[in-house]
Amino acid sequence: MLGPTLTFLVFFLLTGSGLYFFYKAVYHRYLYLKLGKPADLRKEAKDRLKVFLVQVFGQTKLLKDRKSGIMHVVIFYGFIILQFGALDLIWKGLTGNAIPFPGYEAFGFFQELTVLLIVADMGYATYRRYGEKLKRLKRGWKPSIVVFFIFFLMLSVVFSLGFERVEHGLAASGWAPISSLFAAGFGWMSPEGVHIAFMISWWAHLIILLSFLVYVPQSKHFHIITAPVNILLRKTEPVGRLSKLDLEDEEAESFGVGRIEDFTQKQMLDFYSCVECGRCTNVCPASNTGKLLSPMHLIVKLRDHLIDKGSSITKKSPWVPAFAFSDKGSHVLKVGEEHQLPDIWQDSEVTNIAHTMNTQKHSWTVSDKNAEDVELLGDVMTDDEIWSCTTCRNCEDQCPVGNEHVDKIIDLRRHLVLMQGSMPNDGQRALQNIERQSNPWGINRRERDKWVKEVDPDGELRVPTVKENPDFEYLYFVGSMGSFDNRSRKVSKAFARLMNQAGVNFAILGNEEKNSGDTPRRMGNEFLFQQLCMENISVFEKYGVKKIVTACPHTYNTLKNEYPDFGLEAEVIHHTELLDQLVEQGKLVPRYEVKERITYHDSCYLGRYNGIYGQPLFELFSPCRITSYLFHHQQFKLGIPFFCFQKNIWHICQRTTAASFLTVPKTACSNSSAMSFV
Ligand code: SF4
Ligand code: SF4
Repeated sequence: MLGPTLTFLVFFLLTGSGLYFFYKAVYHRYLYLKLGKPADLRKEAKDRLKVFLVQVFGQTKLLKDRKSGIMHVVIFYGFIILQFGALDLIWKGLTGNAIPFPGYEAFGFFQELTVLLIVADMGYATYRRYGEKLKRLKRGWKPSIVVFFIFFLMLSVVFSLGFERVEHGLAASGWAPISSLFAAGFGWMSPEGVHIAFMISWWAHLIILLSFLVYVPQSKHFHIITAPVNILLRKTEPVGRLSKLDLEDEEAESFGVGRIEDFTQKQMLDFYSCVECGRCTNVCPASNTGKLLSPMHLIVKLRDHLIDKGSSITKKSPWVPAFAFSDKGSHVLKVGEEHQLPDIWQDSEVTNIAHTMNTQKHSWTVSDKNAEDVELLGDVMTDDEIWSCTTCRNCEDQCPVGNEHVDKIIDLRRHLVLMQGSMPNDGQRALQNIERQSNPWGINRRERDKWVKEVDPDGELRVPTVKENPDFEYLYFVGSMGSFDNRSRKVSKAFARLMNQAGVNFAILGNEEKNSGDTPRRMGNEFLFQQLCMENISVFEKYGVKKIVTACPHTYNTLKNEYPDFGLEAEVIHHTELLDQLVEQGKLVPRYEVKERITYHDSCYLGRYNGIYGQPLFELFSPCRITSYLFHHQQFKLGIPFFCFQKNIWHICQRTTAASFLTVPKTACSNSSAMSFV
């Protein structure tokens, strides 16, 4: 084999080239990211570190899918242990000696155990992809290449350690079970032969390691580096708060995102962090109902387009060495006849993401178009995709690398609406109605307070306006649904009756109330939202509003989290929070038994957006007082199903892919089942 000097020389040459290629691949991607707008990351940074530690080292998001989560925990911690093993192995090859780690034998044992676990892990990963055929996972050589890398890397460790034992004539040891077993089969080899075999394994280990290092930034495995940073820099203001557009900015050339460079650098970091696990698409209601939108593909397409356009603008190739990875042309979306989504609703009641995954796969193609001529809106993202999102935030809730999808979709909508005046007809009609009559149905704005008389023709309820009761404690913001929609009016009536019973001093704005602006904002019409927001705030100020209560989760979210950006200082609570307080204070006492089995579906804008899971259940199951639900909900997020016995109730919590449900069998509750107040 090579002499020591030559070994050193070749080692430094190889390692130096590997590190240089790695640096180039990372640096070029950094240059592309710099094309984005600077992100303001200073706000509310106090709990960044805590979440970082919990999510990165606790792997909490990954464990939401227990099987994949455990698999990733093994890989994550396994690779940390194996880094030390790799250093030790490299040192052995160069000097012939081990690094004198304290407790070396125990370290060696863990190293071999980890190798075994990782090989088993890779086998299971392959089974998940090709045996179980999980719909959310992509198949093919590209998504699977890492399995080969890791498998051969582990094999080279076993071969190196095994041949090392034979070369040094070490006796079999329980501290080195795998290499001892391996060595037992090669005792017949000559000393020269064993040394050569060791060095071949050693060089193979080094070459695979360096190749993997260079490959990482050029693939979805870049997340190894970017995901922890992405989690650390994640949004720390309320998740339900969309960014405020400065519409008065005379320098602004456009609003929203119409080009990839319009995204912020933090949003671009999301692109690099995506590991293409498909968890987001798996839970997306749009993907599950056969729409073209897939949150995973949204991120992946934006990443591909950023890399295409970034390399074209900076003239720096993303691929190193270029000849090995070069992808000619630019990615564009091709939605032709052959890629149309079938109307799965007509065929079956069962829906899944298979059609969306398949269509996305075949429609994202490489063309010879110049990357700078590729239009973000049209060639990368279609209007269909942009308008299919319900903003439910399930994708973000599942994403293990902290990606934020909703703000990107809203930014794209903002550009479509504010710059191109483009939106679906139904949406346009709803927004025109909100603009003219302050409700999406176009009902006369002077009829906003009519619900009181219509739900209570006998005048039994006391629902005063702010003019009739100027000393109110709570402003009841009824909202458009609560005022005009027949089903929601029942909620308004019941809530008003409960407040009457509990002696709450409240008032409504009546016809002075405007639409909250939540719908226009989520549809990209920031101008209309800001107008409605400012008008509502000025009415609040006129009547000295200090506390606001509302029943609509969307209204609650926008008043609580978004209005403060425009000057609202009042306290905002959801009606379930107020009812919970009233029961707690003994001002409301449940009276009637409801002999029903109840399945409760959390509202996105209460639960996922604002962490309110318990209070709506307290209302439903008031006699039982499910005080430990929040704790258990968190526990269940870790993927641990639970059964608990508390105050004579068995709770069984089930979490589905789409939302969380709590089912309390009526026979399980000592008070028979749920109770109602009215
Ligand atoms: S917010 Fe909901 S609908 Fe929109 S992409 Fe995410 S999961 Fe899909
Ligand atoms: S965005 Fe997040 S959840 Fe979706 S595929 Fe990428 S890493 Fe997975």
